[in-house]
Amino acid sequence: MPTLPLVCWTSFTWVQVLGAVAGGLVLCQLNLYLTTAVLHRGLTHAAILYPRWLQRSVVAWLFFTASIPPLTWSAAHRHHHATSDTPDDPHAPGRIGFWRVLLLTWYYVPRWARANWAVARQRYLSTVQHERFLHWLDKPGTANVNFYGQLALSAALGPVGIVFWLARILPYALLSGYVNSAGHTLGERPFDNLGTDARGLLQTVLGYVVAGETLGHNHHHRYPTNAVLRAEGFDPGFWFATTVLRGTPVRPIIRPPLTVGANRRDARGRFDMPS
Ligand SMILES: [Zn+2]
Repeated sequence: MPTLPLVCWTSFTWVQVLGAVAGGLVLCQLNLYLTTAVLHRGLTHAAILYPRWLQRSVVAWLFFTASIPPLTWSAAHRHHHATSDTPDDPHAPGRIGFWRVLLLTWYYVPRWARANWAVARQRYLSTVQHERFLHWLDKPGTANVNFYGQLALSAALGPVGIVFWLARILPYALLSGYVNSAGHTLGERPFDNLGTDARGLLQTVLGYVVAGETLGHNHHHRYPTNAVLRAEGFDPGFWFATTVLRGTPVRPIIRPPLTVGANRRDARGRFDMPS
């Protein structure tokens, strides 16, 4: 009698494979919206407030379906705000190039966190120091078992399992890299900081795919604790957060007029506002 993996490798149909691709892509799209709404605007910047159970559930969901260690993501992102495009920035397209950041953000983020964990805990994670569940998810052992275990299981399940893994993980990783590369190189720079806002049809369409992250990345670097990322126009991530997830903006929403030069450098000469 054949084992389960052998059955999966020999008795699949192409309809099942196509269904797995479609399911993986839908999951990827959902996860991009959950990332901006809860991981980015909620856990990292405290711009939108969610019930604690919802925030933990979404973070755990992203850990198991997109292999994102939440505290690693959060601390590396806060450090990116504080050090944009300097040698300390975990992913700076101005220094290491557009394509490297797009293709390798998934590698740069945990690399920075593991090399700077003491700094991450002290500077960026003090508000979640008692969140034992989040710290457990972030342990390298837990994260590695989750990632490699799912990879091995998907391979054992045959072509259907493999394409499902690829369709939900690969575009998520590349589109997250796109946010960090395009969000600092493509489009407009209405405020005097290193982020950019999408311009033109293609960048705008991709901006909706990544839940609004690149539609107002320049505005976000000017006002990182603002619940909306865009100074003007519809913000799909904000809509998702406040309508589907029913999150509440913590502070008044700032939608300032777009005036070039409205920003000033801080005391250390940086354009970006500290997060
Ligand atoms: Zn941010």
